[in-house]
Amino acid sequence: MFLNLDKLIPAHIRLFAPYRPSPPDAELMRLYGLDHLHRLNNNENTLGPSPAVRELLAEIQAGVVPIYPHGDSKNLREALSEVLGPDPSQFLVGNGSCELISSVVKAFCEPGDNIVTADKTFAVYEWVAQFSGIEPRLIPLDENLGFDPDAMLAAVDERTKLIFVCNPNNPTGTYWDEATMRRFLDAVDGRCIVVADEAYFEYVEQPDYPNCIRLLDEYPNLVVFRTFSKMYALAALRVGYLCAGPEVTDIISRAHVAYSVNTMAQLAARAALLDCSPFMEQTLCMVRRGREIIRKTCEELGFEHVIGEGNYAMIKTPISDTLLQRKLLRRGFMVRTMTGFRFPNWIRVSLVREHVLEEFSTVLPDVFK
Ligand SMILES: *Cc1c(COP(=O)(O)O)cnc(C)c1O
Repeated sequence: MFLNLDKLIPAHIRLFAPYRPSPPDAELMRLYGLDHLHRLNNNENTLGPSPAVRELLAEIQAGVVPIYPHGDSKNLREALSEVLGPDPSQFLVGNGSCELISSVVKAFCEPGDNIVTADKTFAVYEWVAQFSGIEPRLIPLDENLGFDPDAMLAAVDERTKLIFVCNPNNPTGTYWDEATMRRFLDAVDGRCIVVADEAYFEYVEQPDYPNCIRLLDEYPNLVVFRTFSKMYALAALRVGYLCAGPEVTDIISRAHVAYSVNTMAQLAARAALLDCSPFMEQTLCMVRRGREIIRKTCEELGFEHVIGEGNYAMIKTPISDTLLQRKLLRRGFMVRTMTGFRFPNWIRVSLVREHVLEEFSTVLPDVFK
């Protein structure tokens, strides 16, 4: 049988290079002959999840498994409303916030439309646009590696439906303060939807950092994304949410797959949100210490580095990032290569436990010997 796939697939799918996740840890450890692997590649928080979540997960009965989850995460949305303020109808829960990126694009964009974001940011905005046949307009970061509000505004035209602002930015750690965010939203003036991706919201300790959920009443075109994958340490369960004005949330929910968030994820996220365990404060301490360790190590080595908000740091290396990644893997450290983020020969490392980063700091100079 002859299958002419080219005739079946749209050009934007044919041209799209799929994301290749790294192999499972056990496979990497076998390949590299390791007895441990320190994951510094995905900004995970292994201090969590909170004790309440651990307890809940240990007590989950197999009896819940044959039953479909709540199709719209109702109990979790009610908990989000209690803790954060907006009405439950303003929240939409997704299978990770990555799923919500997809739902927002589906809800607002059709062929010929475009989205505006930065060139050096979380790549999923660009990828979803590309494989949906929507033009991504990637605006260079400014000289301080922050999103450039004026250049982004200049790129907006009548076919721009969405603007993605990663705040703080992954991977540079830069953020828009409240005044900058407000000026930008005022200038957009409701012409398109502005998504503020606050995946690292809980890590930012700067007083001028905006809580965009508090701006929703003033800006009906604003959509705020948050996730349980980072600070709350539920990455394996895949749960994120958005909050927007009731009308906008209703529109996005039409393009969103119901039942995409499983029962364990809904229960754990709710427990994580309602638990006031000290592990979040401990995490912030760990990250502050991590910034110091990485800064000192880079200064001693004379390596350029970028350390901002969030639980990650970027390091420029004198060799290829993929080669360095392999050398570090051999020593038991998994880091993120940054060529794909348009930072050739930079790596990104997550700010994890002090003793792990101390060990990393002794291994890093070693691999250049
Ligand atoms: C990790 C991350 C996300 C979300 O991840 P999910 O696990 O899909 O919720 C979203 N945006 C940024 C910038 C991230 O770094």
